Amino acid sequence: MIRMLMVAGLLAASHWALAAEQVQPAAAPAPQDESAAIRRHHLKRLNERLTVEPAVLASSCRYESDIATPPPLNRVALTFDDGPTAPGTDNILEVLKKYKVHATFFMIGEKAQQYPELVDRVRAAGHDVVANHSWSHPNFHDIDVARQAGEVLRTDSLTGTDGPKLFRYPYGNSTCETNQLVREHGYKIVGWHIDSCDWAYDRTGAIDAREAISCGVPHQFMNDYVGHVLAAARARRGGIILMHEIHPNTLKSLDAIIAGLLADGFGFGMVTDADFQPSLR
Ligand SMILES: [Zn+2]
Repeated sequence: MIRMLMVAGLLAASHWALAAEQVQPAAAPAPQDESAAIRRHHLKRLNERLTVEPAVLASSCRYESDIATPPPLNRVALTFDDGPTAPGTDNILEVLKKYKVHATFFMIGEKAQQYPELVDRVRAAGHDVVANHSWSHPNFHDIDVARQAGEVLRTDSLTGTDGPKLFRYPYGNSTCETNQLVREHGYKIVGWHIDSCDWAYDRTGAIDAREAISCGVPHQFMNDYVGHVLAAARARRGGIILMHEIHPNTLKSLDAIIAGLLADGFGFGMVTDADFQPSLR
């Protein structure tokens, strides 16, 4: 039944994706509109997964960020992408400190270069890991192999010099060539079990019907970002949670999300913990 609902949701999302393509065939969002970029790639991904043969996707190593294995039971690992940001990083560190929770920050190289003091503060906060999320956050499906390598390696010196090396693809869009490259450089590839969809909730804390379908947000949580994240964690019985530093919903709601997860009995781990290793690639 759940699978049927998921397929129905994906088909509906695909329909919307096709409709979106038709309305705006090549209208790339303004570079500063990062939410719009995530939204566009999210729909493209859903559409591609429904219209391209799985064997063809597999032959180009597409969408390998999706984690097929279940998470460790009732354990969550928070991950924050697309920083560092001011004041986002400090706000997040403050909330994590309040609850004595550690997390992983998947940083964009050019932002890490811009805010070295924020990178240092994340490192100084203890077990938090600074991880590689590419240099400038392109869609790796849209750039050639040489540029993909540059995106990874230019960020390597900023994030990969201490501790475990983790890489997360922008938009989760994997390629065979970069899979091989990052593994040669000692990285584990990290996806997520739970997409908070913080990017899809607007500034009033609401998600529209189309985004709700593509994100799998049930109707009762269309005005309740925290409720959606908690329900998704309960449904998966834990897992790696994807959030973004750049989205106000996460900054505003992180305290309530952690409090809710604790109240629900979840334990907090990091993706580098032993029990999360089967979830990495
Ligand atoms: Zn990202």
